[in-house]
Amino acid sequence: MALITVNGIVTRYANYRDNDRILTLFTRERGLISAAARGCRRPKSQLLPASELFVSGEFVLFLNREKYTVESCDVREPFYPLREDVERFSAGAYMLSLINEGTAAEQPNEALLSLLLYALSFTAYSECAPLDMALCFAARCLQTLGYSPAVTRCAACGCDLRAARELHFSAAAGGALCSACTHGFGTDAVPISALSLEALRRMLMLPDAEMGRVRLPERVRNELKHAVNGYAEHVLERRFKALSCL
Ligand SMILES: [Zn+2]
Repeated sequence: MALITVNGIVTRYANYRDNDRILTLFTRERGLISAAARGCRRPKSQLLPASELFVSGEFVLFLNREKYTVESCDVREPFYPLREDVERFSAGAYMLSLINEGTAAEQPNEALLSLLLYALSFTAYSECAPLDMALCFAARCLQTLGYSPAVTRCAACGCDLRAARELHFSAAAGGALCSACTHGFGTDAVPISALSLEALRRMLMLPDAEMGRVRLPERVRNELKHAVNGYAEHVLERRFKALSCL
């Protein structure tokens, strides 16, 4: 039995009994963990403000027989605007679902937590399009998890794509394809413009703190929505619904 302190963010919850919740926390110290927040749905509970999606802060947890219970939380950033706007909420929920499905329990990933907090901040507090932030986060999240899509060289033959005119993107191939390699991937390979591929390249290279500079033209946004989300679904073997609201 021990008290431990973790810094993290609520990425999911499930209600149980009349007043309780199981929170999923993505923490700097222990990666993804589950913790019971007992009584948190009572109006006067001190855990009430800490038991919502997106809330980030310092959580004090009680650990007993490998189960965590939330003792208290010092809320650092509640990200209120994400819960007040349907587009911002959808983008934020999409980011959380990538964390929930893409990371394993008890495996810390500080770079990914930092990326998530920057992406949620820009989505909540800037004029950035929520869909742009969701796509930028998804591509960078996959990169951080070790699934960088091929964007500069053909995913199949390795030829340089930067001067290529006819390009396709295939989730199964692992990224962009030259025209000669496209036929091998059938209907999974969809056309992508050089402009969209360049935008994806740049989004992958930005420092986290500069994600707010991303402004995608409508056509690029639509192409990347298909390409990046298709790639995420292929790699993580899940369907992500939140993006369809955007
Ligand atoms: Zn090729």
